[in-house]
Amino acid sequence: MKALNNNRRFIEETFPVKEVSLESAREKNIRHGHISTLHIWWARRPLASSRTTNYAALIPAPDNIDDWNKKRQFIIEFSKWENSLNPSLIERAREDILKANGGKPPKVLDPFGGGGAIPLEALRLGCETYSNDLNPVAVLIQKCTLEYPQKYGKLKENKEDWSMLSDNSLKNPLLEDVKKWGNWVLDEAKKEIGKFYPDEMDGSIPVGYIWARTIPCQNPSCGAEIPLMRQYWLAKKDKKKVALLPYVESRKVQFKIVGDGYEKRSVGFDPKNGTISRAVATCPICGSVVDAKTTRKLFQEGKAGQRMVAMVLHKPGKSGKIYRIATDMDIQIF
Ligand SMILES: [Zn+2]
Repeated sequence: MKALNNNRRFIEETFPVKEVSLESAREKNIRHGHISTLHIWWARRPLASSRTTNYAALIPAPDNIDDWNKKRQFIIEFSKWENSLNPSLIERAREDILKANGGKPPKVLDPFGGGGAIPLEALRLGCETYSNDLNPVAVLIQKCTLEYPQKYGKLKENKEDWSMLSDNSLKNPLLEDVKKWGNWVLDEAKKEIGKFYPDEMDGSIPVGYIWARTIPCQNPSCGAEIPLMRQYWLAKKDKKKVALLPYVESRKVQFKIVGDGYEKRSVGFDPKNGTISRAVATCPICGSVVDAKTTRKLFQEGKAGQRMVAMVLHKPGKSGKIYRIATDMDIQIF
């Protein structure tokens, strides 16, 4: 084996870009146990590519074609999410890196670590890892990803350290604290803003309001309020399609909820087409058109309004959302 200092690294010779890219893309759909669920970070690097590029940058270039093929194959296996906690693969990678670095863990510095994927993977590979960022949010994410789990996340017997537990079983103090303080935040938030989210008769809780901006129809003989909606879909999944159906009642645009689990959606109604497209609005009552210039002018002159159209609800213990048309009561509470 050649000395690493004078020679090229593996990644400078070859890297299974295609295979690792596929694994990296696949990782986007993984929620459970992935650091991306801790806090949002834009420009987050996939763990698959972070782990394998770290590795390939820390081992020497292959000596021969056999070594080339074997290491490439290892990198492909090692990039898989299912293998991110595989002890034998991790051990092998660590050994390769130690061997390439004279038996000492190499120092890895990520000066702009962001969401922490690269330093996390460097730690997994047994490196002496340093990470930094200018953005305090990134620093906090990194502390919670790289530091606190190691510092506070080890199982220990319940002593006086955390009082909420009464038994003496082995517990993860970090986990218990996150649960405790997470519930505390929830309780405090309920006290403060709970009144805006009253329970429904069936026990479901409001989780969202759907509003529409409005403009008055410019046809002098109409003058109706036009709710501006690009489209009428509320849910557009393969298994669940729900939409708002506009209809006219006493010269006012009203809505009904139609679709799976609600009144049947008629074939002729395509929720794709709303009342507005590129600032051109169409009155659902008289059919007259408000051009883009006039629409903008109405907004600028403060002649536009807004209207609460529907409520989005969630029933605890059930999956999915429930929709209903907003009532005067909802508007009052709001
Ligand atoms: Zn009109």
